[in-house]
Amino acid sequence: MLKAQETVLEIDLNALKHNFKHLKSKLNNNTKFLAVVKAFGYGSDAIEIAKYLQNLNVDYFAVAYANEGVDLRKAGISKPILVLHPLTSNFKAIIEYCLEPSLYNIKVLNEFIEVAAKENQTNYPVHIKFNTGLNRLGFNKNDLDQIVTKLKNTSSVKVKSIFSHLAASEDLDEKAFTLNQIETFKTIAQNFIEAIGYKPILHTCNTSGILNYPEAHFDMVRSGIGLYGFGNSEKENKNLKPIASLKTVISQIHKIDRGESVGYNRAYKSAGFVKTATLPIGHADGIGRQYGNEKGYVIINGKQAPIIGNVCMDMIMVNVTDIDCKEGDEVIVFDTISTAENLAQTAGTISYELITSISQRVKRIFL
Ligand code: PLP
Repeated sequence: MLKAQETVLEIDLNALKHNFKHLKSKLNNNTKFLAVVKAFGYGSDAIEIAKYLQNLNVDYFAVAYANEGVDLRKAGISKPILVLHPLTSNFKAIIEYCLEPSLYNIKVLNEFIEVAAKENQTNYPVHIKFNTGLNRLGFNKNDLDQIVTKLKNTSSVKVKSIFSHLAASEDLDEKAFTLNQIETFKTIAQNFIEAIGYKPILHTCNTSGILNYPEAHFDMVRSGIGLYGFGNSEKENKNLKPIASLKTVISQIHKIDRGESVGYNRAYKSAGFVKTATLPIGHADGIGRQYGNEKGYVIINGKQAPIIGNVCMDMIMVNVTDIDCKEGDEVIVFDTISTAENLAQTAGTISYELITSISQRVKRIFL
């Protein structure tokens, strides 16, 4: 592996394959696998990840917004792409690029049908999302009659799937709540199928759902974080490998005396002799200010170096007093051993937030 000479995010595609295979091994052979590649593939790179997974024969992709799907299509992704949060202003683009919208209330359903009819579409694939407890997006079970009436009166769209999203599949203390969501979804699905007269694809599990609720895999599962190598607990993490390593390099070393300060606002003041290393990564790269002032750390030559003072836009300073190191040495911000999940915890957040925050100016390298 090359030594980092600048800030880079290394993406290990073999680890992605491992995670995909591991998650698939939890499914029945005929359960479809949807890869969630929204938010630049959870910060890694949606296009490269999607190309790689398409070659591994993944069944479906999901993005949050239409423009993310358009980028995938332009890069040659031909598998179906579900748009989880389509905005009405993007409906024409959705059709133009053969993307499949999630429709989550009557207004959105009506408006999509109108656009599909205007564009002379027949049986355009749409996905109906039900709210079973997350209370974010989705029809409620009482909307069923209205949805079915609307769908029976149009030939412009056809329901390809109905789905829901679990609120706490990672939290086994909330098992009763999750089982209730699953039961509610089952009842909605049964009623929907009876009323409409055909069976669409049913799906409700995210990564933790796949690992903790095999009874809820239905016809398809939707995995994001697991593909990128994280579960939501130690047990879930056990067989997953983080695919991304964030590395940088020491730009400069300073030796400072007692009473001197480091960085903006003089937020760090030394109590004695301190050796500091300045690194070319800051909040504009995704290491937010919440990691400053000795909350977060990096790894240099195998040792933890706490981030001292305030995180700057393009730089951080770390304490390397007890570390044998020099300018030009490689720095690990996170990797498979000192993970993004561990670093995220130092700032009271989760791997999802840290990995999706790594900004686009950080060079991605695919291994
Ligand atoms: N399904 C939906 C609707 C989502 O919003 C997400 C991610 O937020 C996922 C699936 C994937 O979840 P996870 O990353 O926990 O696997």
